[in-house]
Amino acid sequence: MKMFGAFVIRGMGITLGHFVNSYVQGVKRKLGMANGNGTHGADASGIFTIQYPEQRAPVPEKFRVLPVLIYDEPTGDVRCTSCGICAKVCPPQCIWIVQAKGEDGKIKNKPEDFFIETNVCMNCGLCAEYCPFDAIKMDHRFELSDTTRKPQEVQNLQNLLVSSEYYAQGHPRAAAAEEAARAKKAAPKPSAPVAPGVIPPTPPTPPTPPPAAAA
Ligand code: SF4
Ligand code: SF4
Repeated sequence: MKMFGAFVIRGMGITLGHFVNSYVQGVKRKLGMANGNGTHGADASGIFTIQYPEQRAPVPEKFRVLPVLIYDEPTGDVRCTSCGICAKVCPPQCIWIVQAKGEDGKIKNKPEDFFIETNVCMNCGLCAEYCPFDAIKMDHRFELSDTTRKPQEVQNLQNLLVSSEYYAQGHPRAAAAEEAARAKKAAPKPSAPVAPGVIPPTPPTPPTPPPAAAA
């Protein structure tokens, strides 16, 4: 019973802390001292009211709704190679991919079409976690309801595509880290250091050019 009372007092202390903090943060926001410089930034703390939909609170970078496919700016190259990993790891199996084929009938490393059944997707983000090419990412858009009844909400490749710039705007830290990792992977590897006492191999001598023909 004593323990129960201690937990109740502790809980009331936490609630009181939030109550006081909401006023402290409110004053700080008014003075432009809080996160977001007076607005309700994604990292803002304290309790505040948003007059939605006129006002919108920015969502945190890791907020996730539905997956989108990325194409690179300015080339327009779709990053997806149709490897199928995302479709394999998707728990409710709501992704399916049609691989592109060349005129010779050989399979190409890109999708002809790409479908996601969005009313089955459970927003887990595993497809984005496992994609080896940073080609599928979780989007922030959540106002997706409409006034029509559809038997299925199936999005195709054209509907799913967004630019790398759009992705970077909503996910600046993740996009910068992924870009740095890709640049590191693409950079030429430094040659192995030579152990002390070992004579490094001599580079091959270029072939001697043939003598010029007499005029
Ligand atoms: S989105 Fe990524 S994991 Fe899925 S098929 Fe394309 S490249 Fe593979
Ligand atoms: S977010 Fe999860 S459920 Fe939705 S498509 Fe990706 S893996 Fe499947």
